[in-house]
Amino acid sequence: MRKCQRQFYYRYLLASHNARDARRHEAFILKQVTNVEAWTGNLVHHCLDDLVVPALTARSSIDWLAAAEDTVKRMHRQYAFSRERKYRLSGIAKGAEPDYCALLVHEQGKDLSAHELAKVEATLRSAFSNLAGMTEFWQQISGHQNYRSEQRIRLKFEGESIEVKPDLMFTHSSHYPVIIDWKCFKSMGGSDAAAQLSLYAWAVVQTREWEKLDYSKMELLEVMPLSGEVKRHHFDEEQFIQVEDQLFEAVHGIRRVFGQGKHDEIDVSELVYANSPGSCAFCSFIEICKGASDAATPIEPVRNPKREQLQLFLPVS
Ligand code: SF4
Repeated sequence: MRKCQRQFYYRYLLASHNARDARRHEAFILKQVTNVEAWTGNLVHHCLDDLVVPALTARSSIDWLAAAEDTVKRMHRQYAFSRERKYRLSGIAKGAEPDYCALLVHEQGKDLSAHELAKVEATLRSAFSNLAGMTEFWQQISGHQNYRSEQRIRLKFEGESIEVKPDLMFTHSSHYPVIIDWKCFKSMGGSDAAAQLSLYAWAVVQTREWEKLDYSKMELLEVMPLSGEVKRHHFDEEQFIQVEDQLFEAVHGIRRVFGQGKHDEIDVSELVYANSPGSCAFCSFIEICKGASDAATPIEPVRNPKREQLQLFLPVS
């Protein structure tokens, strides 16, 4: 919501897979659309989710070369799926299609050049090569207990349901939780890993397992496969309160703008446009967003209609 009220509305309130309403179904398809940078990150992420927990649990090593080859093959399959715009075919369900992918570039009727595609492949190979070289990190996180990937933690806050899914979590042999966030790309305006990890920590310390924990014992790690860096983040009582303040503001901000959150009770023309050009540059809802504004209000151009070209990848060391 911080970025754009309209995007929040399309993504979380209007989009519906089963809706007979064509506009709601269109919003659902557009919600799946992703940019090349996020796609690249998702490919690495997906592979880590599959491999890391079984390897750490079995105390075995990971064949990073094979992981890179598998991921590059998946990348080409997903690219072909998106290029043929199969995500728009009726009967296609995201969960049932292992190669499901919907890229913004194809939604815009364009394509990646051979050079751009090769760059995605090179980025993936660099990520796995970096991961293979992070010997100290893998040693540090090996030999502990209860490794879990993307475990859902559900909580109630201010009457709302909140769900978080840390990328990787385990119990350190000295009995405290370690939370890891694979950060494969930065969102606009920089990495949001600190805030994300604090939110995970806030949720974890409220679970029965960790209710008596001294917060400062918890370990929060941001791992960046595209650069091979690991960054530690701190969490204490002050951060706990900060997370609650931010959630409080977010929940009340959403209620103020969207009331009960019923899509058909919201006047889209009253929702504010994004105030940063970067938000519209990669926004898949740009077409319906313009339509909504044309239909209901004096035309206020969507920011950055030229879709300013931003840096696609983080520098790889
Ligand atoms: S196109 Fe821009 S203003 Fe419209 S929903 Fe997307 S980010 Fe918001």
